[in-house]
This record gives sequence, structure tokens and C-alpha cells, in this order.
Amino acid sequence: MMRLVIVLLIALAVVYAFRLRRRERTATGESRRFERRATLAGLRFWSRLPEDLRDRLASRVDDFIARVPYTGAGGLVIDDRMRVHIAAQACLVTLGHDDWPFDPLHGITLHPDEFIVHQELEDEDTGVVTEGYETLSGQAIESDRIVLSWRDVLDSEARDDGYNVVIHEVTHFLESAHPGGDPAAHAALEAAHAELCRAIDRGEETLLDPYGAEDPTEFLAVAAEFFFERPHELRTRHPTLYVVLRDSFRLDPASWTDLNT
Ligand SMILES: [Zn+2]
Repeated sequence: MMRLVIVLLIALAVVYAFRLRRRERTATGESRRFERRATLAGLRFWSRLPEDLRDRLASRVDDFIARVPYTGAGGLVIDDRMRVHIAAQACLVTLGHDDWPFDPLHGITLHPDEFIVHQELEDEDTGVVTEGYETLSGQAIESDRIVLSWRDVLDSEARDDGYNVVIHEVTHFLESAHPGGDPAAHAALEAAHAELCRAIDRGEETLLDPYGAEDPTEFLAVAAEFFFERPHELRTRHPTLYVVLRDSFRLDPASWTDLNT
């Protein structure tokens, strides 16, 4: 009889400990979600997002952080706030699409500041290859990895000036990971790229960063930065380009209302 009581007491203790741990795990998950939501609410674009897109973004950010590993470089220790800042902007770019586009992405590498990479550059006219080093704030290594400078991530968020390294590199990643798309959209983007090149040749002041004249791939990444950061100006100055990007991203940021203004 005594033995039975002891066995029962042990069984009850095990069940109690198991329940307690499960409750702690749930509480940790909830408090982390709460903290992430608070971090999201502090991001510049959050106040402009419609309510349904906020909910979708918060859920995608959790998925992104669960599925994409982050690596700190140069001694940088990654925390959850950093993960949220980057995941939120990466997921903002893809928010209009229902499918999950980040499967090919094997990781984010985060440096404290700008980083130096070894590059081989081929001269298009002569074919001569030169080797050298370049200082970068972001880099998409095909569809495999996105490398970012944390200082530039923060700089991007400080102003809506059309500079956003996360949106820029995520756009490169998407183009590399999911090539193809609507031929009419490609033609429109190439026409807009050519227009930017001509405006720069004429010495005109351009809305888009002249770096976008480099080639159509850079043009798309630069145009995406303006599409999300300065949508009203982009729609006014380049209405055709705005519509092409709106239909490609399936988002209409110029229609979002800033609740803080
Ligand atoms: Zn680029």
C-alpha cells in the first residue's frame, strides 16, 4: 500500500513539473511575441501600415526568425531586436504575396558596420578582369545569403529618404531566387532605367538615386527603396514605374495613411 502511495506521489510530481514547464514555455513565447510587437510598433513604416497588413507582417516576422538563421560577424552579438528589424523589412517587401519566398535563403550575416569584400570586376568593353577590394553596406550573394551592416540597417530606418539597405538587398535576393515574371513589367523597368540614364546624361536632378543607372538590376533595387520609403513622390514623378512596382509587389504604399499625421 505504502509503495503504491509513493508511486502515485511520484507520478503526480512528474505531471505537475511537466505542466509547470509547459506553462513557462507558453509564457516565454507570449512575452517574446509581445516584445516583438513592441519592436515592430517602433519601426517608421509601422504607423503607415493598414491593420490587416500589420497582423500579417507580425506573423511573417515570427516565421522569418524561426526559419532563417542569423550570424553575427566581426564580433557582433545578434539579439532578437536585430532579428525583428531585419525580418520586418524583408517581409514588408514580400507582404503582398501569399507564398513564402525565402526558402532559398540560407542565412543573414550581420556586420557591426560596413564590411570589405574581395571583388573581381570585368570591364564590359575590354573584357579585362581586375581584382580589388570594395567597402559595402549590404550584399545579396545570389539567392543564398544576405549580408548587411547593422549601422546601415539603423541608418535606413532613421529617415524616409529613399535609402534602405534591407529593401535593396532583399529585392536583389528576390530577383535572383525567383527569376522570370511578367515580360511587360521587365520592358517597362528597362524603359524606366534608360530614362534615368538619359536624365543623368543631361545633368538633371533625379528623384531616384543615380546608382540605379548602373544596370537594370540595380535600378530595380533602388526603385524598390523609393517605392516603400517615398511612394507619393515616386507615384507623382514616375507614375508608370509606380504602377509596375505596385503590380509586381502587389502592394500600394501610396494609399497607406500615416496614422501619426
Ligand atoms: Zn545593389
